[in-house]
Amino acid sequence: MTSPSAHAPGPAPDDEDGTTTDLDAVVVGAGFSGVYALHSLRGIGLDVRVVESGGDVGGTWYHNRYPGARCDIESLDYSYSFDHDIQQEWTWTERYASQPEILAYIRHVADRLDLRRHVDLHVRVTSATWDEASGRWSVGTDAGRSYTAQHLVLATGVLSAAQSPQIPGLESFEGTLVHTADWPDGTPDAANAADREAINGKRVGVIGTGSSATQLIPLVAERAARLTVFQRTPNFVMPAQNHPLGESVVDEWKAHYPERRAFARRSRNGHNQASNPLRGRDLTTAERHAELESRWSSGGLYMMRAFADILTDPYVNAEAADFVREKIRNIVDDPRTAADLLPPRDLAIGTKRLCSGTNYYETYNRDDVRLVNLRRTPIDRIEAGGVRTRRSGVGEGAPAAQAAAGDEPGGLHELDTLVLATGFDAMTGSYVRIDVTGRDGLTLREKWRDGPRTHLGVMSAGFPNLFLMAGPQTPSVFSNMVTQAEIHVEWVTRAIRDLREAGLGTIEASVDAEDAWVDHVTAEAEQTLYATSRNSWFWGANTPGKAQVFTPYIGGIARYLEAITTAADQDYAGFARTQPTPTLA
Ligand code: NAP
Repeated sequence: MTSPSAHAPGPAPDDEDGTTTDLDAVVVGAGFSGVYALHSLRGIGLDVRVVESGGDVGGTWYHNRYPGARCDIESLDYSYSFDHDIQQEWTWTERYASQPEILAYIRHVADRLDLRRHVDLHVRVTSATWDEASGRWSVGTDAGRSYTAQHLVLATGVLSAAQSPQIPGLESFEGTLVHTADWPDGTPDAANAADREAINGKRVGVIGTGSSATQLIPLVAERAARLTVFQRTPNFVMPAQNHPLGESVVDEWKAHYPERRAFARRSRNGHNQASNPLRGRDLTTAERHAELESRWSSGGLYMMRAFADILTDPYVNAEAADFVREKIRNIVDDPRTAADLLPPRDLAIGTKRLCSGTNYYETYNRDDVRLVNLRRTPIDRIEAGGVRTRRSGVGEGAPAAQAAAGDEPGGLHELDTLVLATGFDAMTGSYVRIDVTGRDGLTLREKWRDGPRTHLGVMSAGFPNLFLMAGPQTPSVFSNMVTQAEIHVEWVTRAIRDLREAGLGTIEASVDAEDAWVDHVTAEAEQTLYATSRNSWFWGANTPGKAQVFTPYIGGIARYLEAITTAADQDYAGFARTQPTPTLA
């Protein structure tokens, strides 16, 4: 198997093997959280460095360069609010920004604020160990260099630990194997040699039909000789209804940015996309249908804001799901393919992250695109020449039932390129893949074995001065990530500044507060349909061997912001703060 991944746009670190840099704070990761954390902590006088494994700033928007990658939060919302000048001078061109545009934006912010000189690229943090005697973190990397710092900020992302499927023979594939989260470097288009080599005129297979795949599939179909999609669970895919942004829309936003940003922080989802406060239950069937039709026309994630009870009332949810199923039947010409694309009845709409794409279902009307339903013909193994499926045995011994189920013999799907759109060890993967060791030798991996434990998602007991950015037990993945990132960066900056001004040395979550927050996060989820529909990365269900625990906070940005601000206002209630460690002679 080969991978065309040879990306290195940023400078590799100087040869500093063996050097140790002593700092006030180390920030791991140069995505939206890390870049702002650097700026903000530097602003209070800290000596800070960002350590980033990629070749540039950008985080998720650096790594996920697959064709079609774009954000499903509107661009005018999905951007920093902290610098008035930047939000006035930057002009978004599309309703939903593409990956290259978002990456250009983060690069611009880094340049504009002169942040790059504090960023070490191509360096992966492999370990972080709390040293009780010095009251500092020792941070090890794969580049030989190390750091010590009083504060450690893990801005490593919740959807960044890419996950390849455990399919027998994967390593024997002799074509090009690529994961959506590690696409060949450069722009994802025909002008980029590695990308062109992988896709154009090739027999391409895609495993997965989540958000990444559903964005990628229509564009790959246009360039490949033929495309085979291997689908295990059909998801609900909304039309994005993306379009260029008119000048008047941009001007109106720029004129009202302060109010828009304030609204976002008071909202449930951290942005300005409209939610219907009415409950579906209280409407007539015709009214509900009209609302669903309007949400489908608006596009993107608007569907999940159609009714206040869409994620709590099974009847309302099922009706919305049926509405989308009917759309699928109407779009897809071949009835059998359409039937295969229908999400299963036990999947409440929205309980697997809703997908948003352009021409997704329409793509299956092409003669050169084939859908393989893995529920009927599962993958047996991967071979040098492609993916071999086998007959599932559905209805075996009962020919009529087999025919009804469309039982197929399986076989080899010959491929030149295999795209793994198989997602991430979500929410916790990027944290526990680092060997983080806190007080008394406690490792984060061990502590979170049965699920993450944090207070307010920002700190975990036993790990002093370690801050988690936009991670588990926060609203992050149910909200505008940039809003969440800003809330965390500003809170952490305040916490460190207040600690220093009080002459204190450490801050740490208390066990009682942490227990209460974990219970609260769980209790909130139990009141929703997420509790009954658990086959998603929200529950860790996509990662073999992982504890099945609901990890995001469903309570929304406004409530979360109030909770974390109140904790700080009340002298860091739920956190223990201690004197600095005496300097050792
Ligand atoms: P994902 O949603 O986890 O989807 C992974 C896909 O791979 C699923 O269809 C899964 O099937 C399939 N899969 C995994 N292992 C498999 C196996 N062994 N055999 C067959 N199929 C397998 O991952 P993703 O699409 O990368 O998206 C992850 C998240 O990133 C999204 O939910 C979203 O939050 C974020 N994201 C956002 C955007 C955006 O802003 N537009 C774009 C991309 C990603 P099952 O469902 O059966 O497990």
